[in-house]
Amino acid sequence: MSHVGTTDYEERPMRVTCPHCRSKSRITDTNTISDSVRELYCICQNADCDARFKMSLAHMNDIRPPKTETDNLLIEFFRRMPLAEKQRLLAQT
Ligand SMILES: [Zn+2]
Repeated sequence: MSHVGTTDYEERPMRVTCPHCRSKSRITDTNTISDSVRELYCICQNADCDARFKMSLAHMNDIRPPKTETDNLLIEFFRRMPLAEKQRLLAQT
């Protein structure tokens, strides 16, 4: 099963603003802390500020779980369903 090309959102580049002067900042490096947490090394692009700082990028929670997860849940749910229930469901499709 392929899920390629099923995005339903507009892709926008991530923007980091300087926490000191709110100017646009550039990400110069990243450091992976775990599968769900990364550190971003940033440089403020405002020459009068020129701050260097780290920001964290962390997964908070899923808005929609991965399709593989929901597919597997449905397959497992269907597999455990009594035969009569399966037949009743299939008759509706
Ligand atoms: Zn700044």
